[in-house]
Amino acid sequence: MSEEVLVDLYEYQGRDVFEKHGLPVLAGGVAQTPQEARAIAERLGRVVVKAQVKVGGRGKAGGVKLADNSDEAFERANDILGMDIKGHTVHRVMLAETASIAEEYYFSYLLDRANRTFLCIASVAGGMDIEQVAVESPDKVAKIAIDAVQGVDEAKAREIVTAAQFPAEVADQVVDIAVKLWQTFVAEDATLVEVNPLAKTDAGRVLCLDAKVTLDENAGFRHADHEAMEDKSAVDPLEQAAKAKDLNYVKLDGEVGIIGNGAGLVMSTLDVVAYAGEAFGGVKPANFLDIGGGASAEVMANGLEIVLSDPAVKSVFVNVFGGITACDAVANGIINAFALLESKGETVNKPLVVRLDGNNAEAGRAILDGANNPLVERVDTMDGAAKRAAELAAGK
Ligand code: GDP
Ligand code: MN
Repeated sequence: MSEEVLVDLYEYQGRDVFEKHGLPVLAGGVAQTPQEARAIAERLGRVVVKAQVKVGGRGKAGGVKLADNSDEAFERANDILGMDIKGHTVHRVMLAETASIAEEYYFSYLLDRANRTFLCIASVAGGMDIEQVAVESPDKVAKIAIDAVQGVDEAKAREIVTAAQFPAEVADQVVDIAVKLWQTFVAEDATLVEVNPLAKTDAGRVLCLDAKVTLDENAGFRHADHEAMEDKSAVDPLEQAAKAKDLNYVKLDGEVGIIGNGAGLVMSTLDVVAYAGEAFGGVKPANFLDIGGGASAEVMANGLEIVLSDPAVKSVFVNVFGGITACDAVANGIINAFALLESKGETVNKPLVVRLDGNNAEAGRAILDGANNPLVERVDTMDGAAKRAAELAAGK
């Protein structure tokens, strides 16, 4: 696999990318001072003032505020600029026209590395972390594989809209957005485009009210405008570490560290762990981590290092479906990962539950058994492994 350089855009940059591709966004501007914010609000009227940091949950953290006029915009910008949101200092605010929101949906396209395909994730339960929705109401999260060659045309878009159970009155608008968002994803060489919320206004319009875009800068030579959007200073250390290692990691609130290969499998893993955890006082997944297709020792060690560095993690569930990289290679990867971490002076003292299935599963299981590491338990079913990991996290 080639080295990937992934660049997250700020929301205001993502909004501009969306606008360029004809997606419905509201007029906006970006400010570095309260004075600039006032000037933008004089042009836009009633605005929402939004912290520009490369981390989600800004709303909950107080980084998204409404302002009725330009003086209020000045005040809100003054409050938000300089704020710390999950370790990120706010240096800019985006100001945008406001929408009165009736419903909040979720829509994204992403690269599913392990399956070498693309995935659409859509939900009518938007506005919060989709990983959280997947844990709490998995039936409300539709995951649809997208064929790289066929892409998303109108028929495919209708399939997505039906699968995610979008209400009939917004179906046509969401179809149009699904097609244009796919065109954006492809044209910009993105590995992620996420709209959360995709909102229905009181007037019945569907709008992209947030924009999360990750670009693959390997393809940067094709996009002269991309370099200007890079900014390497604004990422927190754990996120940066995960990103530097090309890992697709999202922090959640629970205690069971999750490592899997393939975005679809990892999403399902979150579901089963949350479900199993209910029997152990509400133990939950601590993170989303997709280590992708090449689950080598190095990738496994990198993943383990990130997950174990989270103090909330009490146990780790490694859920791998062997494909191109077979289970015996993954098993060796896990064993060698322990050695690698120890050689770096990092003691591993949290239990791992490993489930291997798919290509060469028997050989992989034999390797794990042969290594006889007291911290590693092998469970061969996904439900069984989830239950055991939850049990260990609960200290049983
Ligand atoms: P995040 O919390 O970092 O994902 O930031 P978002 O951009 O998604 O904003 C958080 C929340 O603020 C959204 O889910 C909306 O409920 C709310 N919000 C964002 N833009 C507007 C707006 O224009 N009008 C209103 N009323 N609420 C908004
Ligand atoms: Mn959002």
